[in-house]
Amino acid sequence: MTTRQYDSTVRQGMSLKDISGIDTVKEEMLELISYLKDFDKYNSMGARIPAGVLLCGPPGTGKTLLARCVAGEAGVPFFSCAGTEFMEMFVGVGAARIRNLFDQAKKVAPCIIFIDEFDAVGTKRSETGQGQVYGNDEATATINQMLTEMDGFSTATGIMILAATNRPQVLDPALIRAGRFDRVIEMGLPNKKSRQEILFLHCNKPTFAGNIDPNLDYEYIARQCAGFSGADIENLTKSAVMRVAQAERGLASTGDFLWCIDDIRRSQSFVRNGSG
Ligand code: ATP
Repeated sequence: MTTRQYDSTVRQGMSLKDISGIDTVKEEMLELISYLKDFDKYNSMGARIPAGVLLCGPPGTGKTLLARCVAGEAGVPFFSCAGTEFMEMFVGVGAARIRNLFDQAKKVAPCIIFIDEFDAVGTKRSETGQGQVYGNDEATATINQMLTEMDGFSTATGIMILAATNRPQVLDPALIRAGRFDRVIEMGLPNKKSRQEILFLHCNKPTFAGNIDPNLDYEYIARQCAGFSGADIENLTKSAVMRVAQAERGLASTGDFLWCIDDIRRSQSFVRNGSG
């Protein structure tokens, strides 16, 4: 079995400014960021932070982006992987991969390990096996290794795990016990105010800013795109800019955004129902 070398580059230039519409979540993150920045000081004072933070929410709500921004803001190495990487056919392989990941992280701590699709590795042990591509023993070994690594945190290793899932209800309760993932953060679909803030952020990125009408009606557009995730809003901005670029005309206007909202809704409804 080859040992994967994780890229743990510090996310230079990324900060909490790169994510918007989630003010309360950002506030919660400040404590963790300050701990990571001043790990030695806090550690010598005996301060402990949650070993794991679970980010729950539908696709495209910024869970991955938040993890990257927290790492960038704290200036610490960032290990990124997906829970599916630990699902294997042979017993012990997933557990060995988890050990390898944590071994690498310990060498550069303080750092963040981000595990996307965490439910793939953390599903309730009694519910794994049936109809799944990997055996129950393998799933149990993998999750037990995860628990072992997290319990090692009582010695304050400076590793913070941010795990993301769309299905928190299927997670093994042992994981959410105190001292493991004892902080759970809801990343729901944005409300109108948040959609407006996310839209503003994307429209004012250097890549788009020069192509968008400075009098864009952010409030009206945000009202019209109820149910959109942050990722949908980013897609909307790109589509509106593309629309005017293809037509070789000026700046993307409120009307272009509204046209694209309808277009995105039509595609989403086609994917869901097979008709527009
Ligand atoms: P998944 O569950 O599918 O992995 P996710 O919740 O991890 O989704 P991200 O990958 O973080 O979602 O979001 C995709 C993109 O959507 C981001 O790179 C960003 O451009 C945009 N986005 C999502 N939420 C926000 C937000 N709150 N502020 C700014 N941009 C956002």
